[in-house]
Amino acid sequence: MAYDVEMIRQVYERYPERIAQARKLLGRPMTLSEKILYSHLSGDLPNEPFKRGDSYVNFSPDRVAMQDATAQMAVLQFMQAGKDQVSVPSTVHCDHLILAKEGAKEDLTKAEQNNKEVYDFLASASKKYGIGFWKPGAGIIHQVVLENYAFPGGMMIGTDSHTPNAGGMGMVAIGVGGADAVDVMAGLPWELKFPKLIGVKLTGKLSGWTSPKDVILKVAGILSVKGGTGAIVEYFGPGAESISGTGKGTICNMGAEIGATTSTFPFDESMKKYLKATGRTDVAEMASKIEEHLRPDAEVMENPEAYYDQIIEINLSELEPHINGPFTPDLATPVSQFGKVAKENGWPLKMEVGLIGSCTNSSYEDISRAASVAKQALDKDLKVKAEFTVTPGSEQVRYTVDRDGYLDTFEKIGGVVLANACGPCIGQWARHNAEDLDENSIMTSFNRNFSKRNDGNPKTHGFVASPEIVTAFSIAGTLDFNPATDYLENAKGEKVKLDEPTGDDLPAKGFDVKDPGFIPPSSENKNVDVVVKPDSERLQLLTPFEPWDGENLTGMKLLIKAKGKCTTDHISMAGPWLRFRGHLDNISNNMLIGGVNYFNERTNAVKNQLTGEIGEVPATARDYKAKGIGSVIVGDENYGEGSSREHAAMEPRHLGVRVVLVRSFARIHETNLKKQGMLALTFDNPADYDKVQEDDTIDVLKLTEFAPGSSLIVVLHHADGTTDEIVANHTYNEAQIEWFKAGSCLNFIKENQ
Ligand code: SF4
Repeated sequence: MAYDVEMIRQVYERYPERIAQARKLLGRPMTLSEKILYSHLSGDLPNEPFKRGDSYVNFSPDRVAMQDATAQMAVLQFMQAGKDQVSVPSTVHCDHLILAKEGAKEDLTKAEQNNKEVYDFLASASKKYGIGFWKPGAGIIHQVVLENYAFPGGMMIGTDSHTPNAGGMGMVAIGVGGADAVDVMAGLPWELKFPKLIGVKLTGKLSGWTSPKDVILKVAGILSVKGGTGAIVEYFGPGAESISGTGKGTICNMGAEIGATTSTFPFDESMKKYLKATGRTDVAEMASKIEEHLRPDAEVMENPEAYYDQIIEINLSELEPHINGPFTPDLATPVSQFGKVAKENGWPLKMEVGLIGSCTNSSYEDISRAASVAKQALDKDLKVKAEFTVTPGSEQVRYTVDRDGYLDTFEKIGGVVLANACGPCIGQWARHNAEDLDENSIMTSFNRNFSKRNDGNPKTHGFVASPEIVTAFSIAGTLDFNPATDYLENAKGEKVKLDEPTGDDLPAKGFDVKDPGFIPPSSENKNVDVVVKPDSERLQLLTPFEPWDGENLTGMKLLIKAKGKCTTDHISMAGPWLRFRGHLDNISNNMLIGGVNYFNERTNAVKNQLTGEIGEVPATARDYKAKGIGSVIVGDENYGEGSSREHAAMEPRHLGVRVVLVRSFARIHETNLKKQGMLALTFDNPADYDKVQEDDTIDVLKLTEFAPGSSLIVVLHHADGTTDEIVANHTYNEAQIEWFKAGSCLNFIKENQ
């Protein structure tokens, strides 16, 4: 049993009282999201209701899940907290580092060799700290979570953007950066801006070629890639009840593509069925006992406009299959229009590869429906025109669909079954003729289709659709096709038409698996050594940052005055640098290489005040650090926007930057800087940004009186001997000031065990 039934029991025991208190506070009926959020507050209820889209709130999530790329730095940081074990149930999933090339077996063997040190590190750290470990090949994080851990009314965070997949089981599941995971694993509250709520009322029933994927493809078309930002998308209505549990997962998964904080569904029969089918009858029964708390209140359903910030209504009976793309997941085209639109836009009509599966769409229902289409190619003598790959989401799904003959069907039409891993979805795809490819089209049942996402080729037009639609288009080999109406010519020269897909939401013979690839957490292994080779280029144990010496910061050199937009990608670039995510010193060589230097408008070219020469940002910072001189980053508006990547805060700290002084911060990055023991300051007068000169030596004064709400003084010593004294503000509270004093939040936690 992978899940923690006692934890779930405790969550459910709290529910009735917490909901009653919250309903009293709000003075009105509650939506499902509000029930989950108010039941997971860290600490007591506030005196007045939180303001959606405004109040910052501390929560206590029930679980943490981490994928192997992001888990490396999260676990390395957790090791700094001085804890014996994680404070909440947590898991690591080895899914992102497996390159898809030959097929499941060969690719997995290669990955185990190439990533051995990363896997050994994650396995040993998981063992030591009581973290559940899902080995390479066990499956993709979100599918494994849905099968094993997701439970109605629960709240979890995961270090991956598609964590909301668990909303299919009625959770509030949110994708975060590694630093957030560390907080929760170390027993700290987790902060989130109270989300706005978008209600999606589903009526009617899916039929024919239409599938749950088409609901989210349609919603993405309506809301666009930014339309869900800062909001939870809550689905409800009779149509919602008609969708399978895994179908709900697909819809929630791809809510990430509209920027939503997460998406969720009310508890219903489909969830009960899925929980039981995946061996969690006890959870289904416990949830049933409090089911009125795991749905929106009846009054909310009667008049949803009064309770959600925005309402969308979709009639599933009228919904057509959609195909979204290319290059963006919100460009939604109904299948009946798709051929015409493709021709009008000059998209390459020949479909080269169809890829089904992934964490988004590899449920039993997905695979059985896609296989029913694939089988028709065999039965009707159709030659499959495109290449075809299948990525199962978990070993349990793979084993079951193999047992039931579906993988055999795919292989008979020329399909290649890939490892139970992310593979082509995250660009881990050695597409065999990638170099020679000019403009070309592929169609996937994945979620993201930004340029270069799948094969690194900007000329590849990536389209997203349901697995059954991808399979049908793979048979047709052209974008100019509508399986509902068009005929294909078979090997005998006959005109044949594909029948509508059929399938089962759950296996009639039940799920089965021989080796799920799971090492359960245990509290018995605290003495295990965590394996990190001293000469590794991919992993490096962290050294605690130095505590503050109690003095004002003086004599620091300006490292860079960044001009305009400076996102976490500019501060800590992704791409090839992902390889070094577990090695702070190596990844620090990308620090701010994307930021534009105000003084010469160039990137990665700043003046080294000690030599007078222009050098790369990381090298210049290293030079100051080597000589015992602190440095300062100056930035513009909304500095650090983008992701919650903690590397963007750790790298400057590692390279000796003491202060980041900007016109304004993106809040998550500001908090991350505080957690790493940095001084994150804003100009009291934004125009003072203009006073910073290239050769400035900088002091921060009044630090000895550092207190919430108090301003600090920054002195700019210019090269011509003049000085400017300016006021700088901060948003540190008492606790965060303690982090600064200790050198980092983790140092503080360790000191206060
Ligand atoms: Fe992310 Fe794709 Fe992996 Fe899912 S399959 S976790 S979307 S990379």
